[in-house]
Amino acid sequence: MLNDVRFALVDLETTGGQAAHDQIMEVAVRLLDFNGGVEQQWQSLIDPQCSVPPFIENLTGIRQSMLRGQPTFSAIQDTLWRYLDGAVLVAHNARFDAGFLRVNFARYGRQYSPLVLCTLKLARTLYSDWPKHGLEAICDRIGFYSEVHHRAMADVDAMKAFLDYARQDKGEAVFNFEVGLLLGLPVLPPSISQADMDAIPCQPGIYRLLDDAGELLYLGSAKSLQAQVLGHFTNTAGDSKATKLARRVCSVQWQMLAGELSAGLCLSLALRHEKPQMQRRAKAIGKPCCVRFVTNDDGVTQLRLRSGLPSNIAQTGELVAVFRDRKHAKARIIDLAKDADLCRFQLGVLADGERCGCGACDTAGDSVPTLSGGELAEFNIRAREVFASYLYAPWPFTEPVLVYEQNESGFGEWHLINEWRHYGSFTWDESLLLLSARTESESGDQAAISLDDARLKCEQAKDFQYEHYRLLRAFIDDLEWRPLSEFTA
Ligand SMILES: [Zn+2]
Repeated sequence: MLNDVRFALVDLETTGGQAAHDQIMEVAVRLLDFNGGVEQQWQSLIDPQCSVPPFIENLTGIRQSMLRGQPTFSAIQDTLWRYLDGAVLVAHNARFDAGFLRVNFARYGRQYSPLVLCTLKLARTLYSDWPKHGLEAICDRIGFYSEVHHRAMADVDAMKAFLDYARQDKGEAVFNFEVGLLLGLPVLPPSISQADMDAIPCQPGIYRLLDDAGELLYLGSAKSLQAQVLGHFTNTAGDSKATKLARRVCSVQWQMLAGELSAGLCLSLALRHEKPQMQRRAKAIGKPCCVRFVTNDDGVTQLRLRSGLPSNIAQTGELVAVFRDRKHAKARIIDLAKDADLCRFQLGVLADGERCGCGACDTAGDSVPTLSGGELAEFNIRAREVFASYLYAPWPFTEPVLVYEQNESGFGEWHLINEWRHYGSFTWDESLLLLSARTESESGDQAAISLDDARLKCEQAKDFQYEHYRLLRAFIDDLEWRPLSEFTA
């Protein structure tokens, strides 16, 4: 983590703002260890081998005459590289300095792509209430006075003063956390200690991220709880939503479960009852959508969307494609039809005024595309074929089953499933032939039920949930599925 990081505070004075055209005429570096102590510093004027515009002379006080006889970038680049190589580049508006260094080192075959900490961004983050975050404004604010501005070492000193001020003012934990977030390094929120993190098991389960008032921000399931929770505080650089979440997390709660299926089922149940503030409306809650295949008067296969599964699908054996929700179904139909050049006009799924764009429609121009006898037969076959991977898989048992899952520490759970619907999760009590509910289920069932009760329970109507169906299908080959009759026999 941050302890291993070396910081190189850098400032450049240049002949202009364009890294590709303008030249560096002064450089200053201070190497800092993690605790803010200065290890080394170095500065040099550089002969830019071009003229310095008068306004730059006025801004920096660096006169053309001062640069005569100074070393060129070529002459100092080995020295500068030794300071910068392997260190985090720290600069105010660091994109500017990083750009100039990258371009100049590249001229000598060196690839400069350091981790970058921009003190301008850091100041904006830590002190969003300050009206200005330019280096001079910051110096005024923190009471750091310097004789000169816009000279490289003076600006480096100002950055150092700001970093010292912020570390002191905000406290080590907050300062390190914000620096870590900007660098995309794994750092923990100020209120979560390494010991807290170490206590989270590397086991499957669900977890809740809470804010300082104990409000739920995020609810997730994981194969390894520790890794997944840590992931919320890592690699968030550039992802503003993830960064926002990481900033607000104050504590973590978790529940270890028997495996990924258990975690997925538990998560989907929890998401129905809890409303995490920083999570998009949970996937599991949308109404599933299925696509039916019907034949119109001309004998053409057409698609009809409906919410949920037909309730008698087990009896009729009707072929349908099933999707997470209506929006997802519509998007997939468009993609699949386009990929297969299937006519969406014929499929009956074109919106009013929408152009189909398939080959047949393009050929037909303004007239209505038609299918000849041979084309019709082929069309009808392909209209079903393209949905092959979305077709509803009939329930492969003739009765309810118990699915067993167990984690590495030997904790196991049974999931009561019928027709891909989840009727509860239980631990097994051998002596009593009873299933003990892990948590009170949504219908508020009693804590323990007999196998006969379980069978009755599975006869109750229950909505088809796409997320459960998807999860169960994914684990069907890896887990033990036992029909209820095996237990009672
Ligand atoms: Zn078409």
